[in-house]
Amino acid sequence: MYDNKNIFAQIIAGNIPCKKIYEDKDVLFFEDINPVSKVHVLGIPKVKCTNFSDFVLNYNKDIVANFFMKIDFVIEKIGIKETGYRVITNSGSDGGQEVPHFHVHILGGEKIGAKIR
Ligand code: 5GP
Repeated sequence: MYDNKNIFAQIIAGNIPCKKIYEDKDVLFFEDINPVSKVHVLGIPKVKCTNFSDFVLNYNKDIVANFFMKIDFVIEKIGIKETGYRVITNSGSDGGQEVPHFHVHILGGEKIGAKIR
């Protein structure tokens, strides 16, 4: 069950501010409030999805494909395509997911090594 009051739903609604990297009608990319690397961007689709499985199984293929293409677009936009990056999504309790709206972490700007988020 999707929690309409989760932090990312409130960021999408404009109730909580964020440092936007890219936004359009379908997606939002913004800086993580507690970065674990020099570049730490969060990417979210604007549909009400709780985690990776919910997103890829329950939403239109165009919406899903567009989101993943936008991740690549943002990686290029923030200038880490050549130097490298890590894209992560956490799901559920064992995955360490804190915010129950599907999101990806884009980490880069330095060697990420064993660092995980
Ligand atoms: P998760 O553990 O769910 O994969 O990651 C949630 C991420 O959201 C964490 O990296 C955390 O720092 C970030 N976060 C939590 N609250 C806020 C917020 O209000 N604003 C921003 N920009 N990031 C947040």
